[in-house]
Amino acid sequence: MLAYRLNQWATAREMALSGYATSIIAAETNLSQRQCKHLCHLLAQEGYTIRQRPRLRSGLMFIRNRTEKIHASLFMLAYCQLGGTAVYQSIQRIALQKAHQYYQSLQNSMLTHCWTAFDINDSWSMAQELANKDAFIRRCRVCHSSHFTSVHQYTPVDCPFCVEETKIECQ
Ligand SMILES: [Zn+2]
Repeated sequence: MLAYRLNQWATAREMALSGYATSIIAAETNLSQRQCKHLCHLLAQEGYTIRQRPRLRSGLMFIRNRTEKIHASLFMLAYCQLGGTAVYQSIQRIALQKAHQYYQSLQNSMLTHCWTAFDINDSWSMAQELANKDAFIRRCRVCHSSHFTSVHQYTPVDCPFCVEETKIECQ
């Protein structure tokens, strides 16, 4: 029991330092949101930078156009590759963290003045939609590339990689 408690708090600490929202930390560790908030408060007092966001976004808010769908697909394909078939059952947090690091390094090498990258909380939300069967990895019949599709997305774009050559929107 003690080992379980220690592991719970160690995971919560690591997640708080990685920028996860307290609601996600609570869901992953079984600690209460109040305990997670208190932990973040203590870490901030120790001098750590804790970035918190009040609420989670869903695919409705972050997949609104072709550009966003491409970004979601790049991230989620890396996540599925790293996490294997287990990603369709539950969130694989180590794979998620690695995929997000990969996505961030890709992001840093691109000129993205018109784009705000997904943070770790957006990434977690997409992974949750995949595990809940609210999102899928689809293979395009035309270009044969795979892409991420969420039932909550707010765009009619199907395959983001082979839609007619239109100017990629900047939003
Ligand atoms: Zn396609």
